[in-house]
Amino acid sequence: MTAKPAAAAARATVYGYPRQGRNRELKKAIEGYWKGRVTADALRATTAELRRTNWQQLADAGISEVPTGDFSYYDHVLDTSVMVGAVPARHRAAVEADALDGYFAMARGTQDVAPLEMTKWFDTNYHYLVPELGPDTVFTADSTKQVAELKEALALGLTARPVLVGPVTYLLLAKPAPGVAADFDPLTLLDRLLPVYAEVLADLRAAGAEWVQLDEPALVQDRTPAELNAAARAYRDLGNPADRPKLLVASYFDRLGAALQVLAASPVDGLALDFTDSAAANLDDLAWVGGLPGKRLVAGVVNGRNIWINDHQKSLATLGTLLGLADRVDVAASCSLQHVPLDASAEQDIDPEVRRWLAFARQKTAEVVTLAKGLARGTEAITAELAANRADLAARADSPITRDPAVRSRAAAVTDADGRRSQPYSERAAAQRAHLGLPLLPTTTIGSFPQTDELRVARADLRAGRIDTAGYEERIKDEIREVLSFQEKTGVDVLVHGEPERNDMVQYFAEQLTGYFATQHGWVQSYGTRYVRPPILAGDISRPEPMTVRWTTYAQAQTAKPVKGMLTGPVTMLAWSFVRDDQPLGDTARQVALALRDEVNDLEAAGTSVIQVDEPALRETLPLRAADHTAYLDWATESFRLSTSGVRPGTQIHTHMCYAEFGDIVQAIDDLDADVISLEAARSHMQVAGELAEHGYPREAGPGVWDIHSPRVPSTAEAASLLRKGLEAIPAERLWVNPDCGLKTRGWTETRASLENLVAAAREVRSEL
Ligand code: GLN
Ligand code: ZN
Repeated sequence: MTAKPAAAAARATVYGYPRQGRNRELKKAIEGYWKGRVTADALRATTAELRRTNWQQLADAGISEVPTGDFSYYDHVLDTSVMVGAVPARHRAAVEADALDGYFAMARGTQDVAPLEMTKWFDTNYHYLVPELGPDTVFTADSTKQVAELKEALALGLTARPVLVGPVTYLLLAKPAPGVAADFDPLTLLDRLLPVYAEVLADLRAAGAEWVQLDEPALVQDRTPAELNAAARAYRDLGNPADRPKLLVASYFDRLGAALQVLAASPVDGLALDFTDSAAANLDDLAWVGGLPGKRLVAGVVNGRNIWINDHQKSLATLGTLLGLADRVDVAASCSLQHVPLDASAEQDIDPEVRRWLAFARQKTAEVVTLAKGLARGTEAITAELAANRADLAARADSPITRDPAVRSRAAAVTDADGRRSQPYSERAAAQRAHLGLPLLPTTTIGSFPQTDELRVARADLRAGRIDTAGYEERIKDEIREVLSFQEKTGVDVLVHGEPERNDMVQYFAEQLTGYFATQHGWVQSYGTRYVRPPILAGDISRPEPMTVRWTTYAQAQTAKPVKGMLTGPVTMLAWSFVRDDQPLGDTARQVALALRDEVNDLEAAGTSVIQVDEPALRETLPLRAADHTAYLDWATESFRLSTSGVRPGTQIHTHMCYAEFGDIVQAIDDLDADVISLEAARSHMQVAGELAEHGYPREAGPGVWDIHSPRVPSTAEAASLLRKGLEAIPAERLWVNPDCGLKTRGWTETRASLENLVAAAREVRSEL
């Protein structure tokens, strides 16, 4: 369709840009500062330069309104806490002594003071620092950072729009401070917080901001009437003063639902909405509320969190519809581009066919500009871009990489029976008991043993060609033998090979599966100075050859005890990758599941009787809205079962999960139909054991009795007391003894002591049965 050239003033904008710089200069500067190698002044100079480069890049690309304030030394939610003066009491002295060091103390803690808790930013893989609030919290405005960054951008002659976390989202993301009643509701602080926001807004206006953006992604989640009311009150109050800048309230990651009406009716000047596939309902909802007469609409049509080129034709159709629904329509990416890597053109090693389909932050920026141009001047103005876009999309759709007939026909032929084991759990359990001959309260670990410097050096040596594959594999085998002999000596019942050959639990498999691609520079911020390079799941997935069988069988050949094979499950393989957007997630999960099914079956055929398929991401990938949970859990559990149902009844399937509360997904855990699950539980004192019992969970479970997130060694007495607690909920015939998670981040010293204590605790409690 041809967009009418009615939006002559259509602007192109984005809400945020990758912070790290082309060569992760930000990480280097900050870590250098922590180590005392970089001065505070040098750090400030580096970051100012990074901001300038980003703005210049955006402006040169044709972005007519650049964001400011999206930069952060660590995290933008922490920046918001500083902006409103919500510094926890335990950090106040440090912040007063030195603002920058105090800031990092809140982020990372010090020898004596705990940091703020960190948690996932909605359903992304970015983590923010959770504000700690209480009835005594006093907010005070500190607009220094926001004002300074706005002035930097204005000094470059740019039109700039400060971006803040909105007050409602800020409070909804907060938790009660330590010592405050757990049922304290931070939203009760709204009336105290709003004047502080009003003050910051006035400061930004005085510094030259025409528009300020307030991000309210929390409003795309299910919200109670009281919460919606709070949003209405917030934007009525903030919309009232005469000396304020124009307000743009932004939402992303999903549809606004009931909150759309609230915001549309509020006296703010514009809304930014997500119009990508998962939030497409916004389009109908917007028409239903009568559009945004008199307001500005910023349309997030380019997906800001995947790494694929946009479908311009589709976006232009959406934009065309939107033109009639607001006074003015601008074009944006759906959310901050901080969730994607910087520049796809830096990927010189990736298959050029695939590179053509990739759009990172820089490419997405260009797409937004193209669409704005098309909207403003008609599609004739972007004929060349549209033709190129059509050709790239067609190439992707027709490529043998995305369309492998063998994979497709196999996936299409899957029946319900393929995802069901041949016998119910109770019968399998008897077969496994006979086959494995394990004691009550069997002991095991989650898979990885310490990834020592020697192992990392060996991997680096292999990459640099200092050793050959044979030399590398000898080192891996040495490590496996050592890990096994330690476990035998300690008296562990189900052994593991220790995963020494794996760089990462997703990357290791991605490297061996056809359809997956690695990037060289595709860094995205996970938290603070930690960046990850998620692999790209671009095509149909198949497994050209076995991935883990030789290591697991090598290990099994060294011992008479059962060695557990370890794999990463389909949901986690998707969750920690950039996933293709050209088919439903469930279809992609099914392909991965079938590849894993072959691996599981091959492991069994090679003599492995215990196979663990890790799904730590099952809970964290839950959609933001409850209405979407069932559909997700259906394909998620089905893909797990598909990968694990091809084995004999006597083969024991384990799964493992960590990082979260599981209370609300016990049914889904049950639906996995695994024989044994190990879960993180040490910190919550076996809470999850009670939750499983309450649900009537009928299978075996190993709630962790050793918190592996710290080097602390649990004593035998401590582990034994956790086990007794576990026995209150789970009968001895079904209780396993294991740590919370893998040991790869631990050192050998604490691993030895802790595992010995864990086995001793199991023996002690067994003797009481
Ligand atoms: N098997 C993996 C390990 O032991 C599991 C890691 C995880 O759950 N994150 O390291
Ligand atoms: Zn884990």
